[in-house]
Amino acid sequence: MKTFIVEKTASGGFTMGRAFVVNRNNLSADTYRIESKDADTEIAKYQKAVREATAQLEELAKTSDIFAAHFEMVQDPALYAGVTDKITSESQNAQLALENTTAEFAAIFDSMEDEYMKERGADVRDVRDRLMRSLKGITQNVLEGIHDKVILVAEDLSPSDTSNINLDFVLGFATELGGVTSHVSIIARNLELPALVGVKGLMEEVKSDDFLILDASNGKVILDPDEETIQKYKALEEEYRKHKKELEALSSLPATTLDGKTVKVYANVGNLEDVKKAVHRGIEGIGLFRSEFLYMKNTHFPTEEEQFEVYKQAAILCPKELIIRTLDIGGDKSLPYYTFEPEENPFLGWRAIRISLDLEDVFKAQLRAILRASAFGKVKIMYPMIISLEELIKANTILNICKNELAAESIAFDPDIKVGIMVETPASVLCIENFAKHVDFFSIGTNDLTQYILAVDRGNKKIAKLYDSFHPAVVQSIQRIIDAGHKEGIEVGMCGEFAGDEKAAVLLLGLGLDEFSMSAGATANIKNIIRNTSYEKAKECAGKAVTAFTTQEVKDILSCFHN
Ligand code: PEP
Ligand code: MG
Repeated sequence: MKTFIVEKTASGGFTMGRAFVVNRNNLSADTYRIESKDADTEIAKYQKAVREATAQLEELAKTSDIFAAHFEMVQDPALYAGVTDKITSESQNAQLALENTTAEFAAIFDSMEDEYMKERGADVRDVRDRLMRSLKGITQNVLEGIHDKVILVAEDLSPSDTSNINLDFVLGFATELGGVTSHVSIIARNLELPALVGVKGLMEEVKSDDFLILDASNGKVILDPDEETIQKYKALEEEYRKHKKELEALSSLPATTLDGKTVKVYANVGNLEDVKKAVHRGIEGIGLFRSEFLYMKNTHFPTEEEQFEVYKQAAILCPKELIIRTLDIGGDKSLPYYTFEPEENPFLGWRAIRISLDLEDVFKAQLRAILRASAFGKVKIMYPMIISLEELIKANTILNICKNELAAESIAFDPDIKVGIMVETPASVLCIENFAKHVDFFSIGTNDLTQYILAVDRGNKKIAKLYDSFHPAVVQSIQRIIDAGHKEGIEVGMCGEFAGDEKAAVLLLGLGLDEFSMSAGATANIKNIIRNTSYEKAKECAGKAVTAFTTQEVKDILSCFHN
């Protein structure tokens, strides 16, 4: 028996079964060099592979955005130029030229700070595998051969891999590479299958047909477990399944406390597929539509028309409330088609609303698209990273220009569209009363607020222990924001990760938070906690927590009130 341990769970849950190890050795490139007279033949081979891959991806693109991106990538002139140049100038055969060119491309993405951009390296490798299969004349994907229930073990799994698997046969995933935002992690969360990624040593030790226990909730893969361990996990798996079923049955019920106070529990989304899933779960509103993904997954700034189509669909799907955040780029998020000048401190640099106010045409295209979508549902606009009233006023001035333009063009929109800000900077907390008079709602962005209040980089693993939203400074800031909002009669929500933290739910409820917005998968659990708590008790608990001197004290107060 051997146990592999990882820190972060990609998708929780328990399962056990035989491993199916995905081995990719047959996709390595032939390494021989060619003579210059053979260059045209190699280029023709590569062109044929591109044609075949393009045809496959044209079909697949209809099923998912990921393949739409691969469809563009496989025809990318830079990729073509890289491969053909290696064939003609470096005498590499087509397979080797493909291998080396895609390795260079993937390395650029791998070195990026932003998790999302990092994962694009996996897309390049996926496109490479597709082209390589074509070059080698391999028609069958190894994963098509799965006909029994298995735990998939792989170095990494790409969208193309998972599109070839009958997912009914997959009990769970364990991969050696990948992060919690990698493709396999997203697929696993969507399918609610247990998954662990970044499991070091996995591929060396595990062979197909080995028996595994995947305890994804606690970050463990157990190879060849003994009978006692198997029995223990069988019981845990059963208990987990029962608990999940009970929660799901409750997920579309309102989040009303034992003593009758109802709060909104909404979802954070990044695209239309997320909106569909949230609606399917019975979630009634979107507290944060991260519009930047529309920009990041593109080859150009999305046009007003392109954005309008997406926002309109989202508004139709979720007519009760849809909060669209304007472009929040910069910091750790970049755009493949725009060069950001290097900055000493990107998180304190040119990001979010600062960029929108500087790139007015880009901002206007987005505001016009959101306004037009507001004719199809209850759409609200939210500005990120606001630090001053001047910024808010400037943004609203541009919004008014857009409204006037649309009115002059007789294009429908909601003239009373609600406008709010994300409260995620210390400046906005300190001046919160001033902002409260000028907006329709607040949404607390605890991810950034915590990093800025505590001066702790949210992505720096070395100081991750210092990053804690239960710090008294953050808790008191939250209280201050909620109180200032309520004094002016405006709603206060939260769309940072803290809103979905089960240990924070009673505190936030007691502080008076009106709307909790989180990843769709977390809503059932938070609703369940709220439904089993009395508001009066939560207030008492929160009252004590905000006066605590230390982070530990805050946590201790919450833990005893919680149980
Ligand atoms: C936040 O900062 O809390 C937030 C929700 O925004 P993001 O994580 O996208 O910066
Ligand atoms: Mg933020």
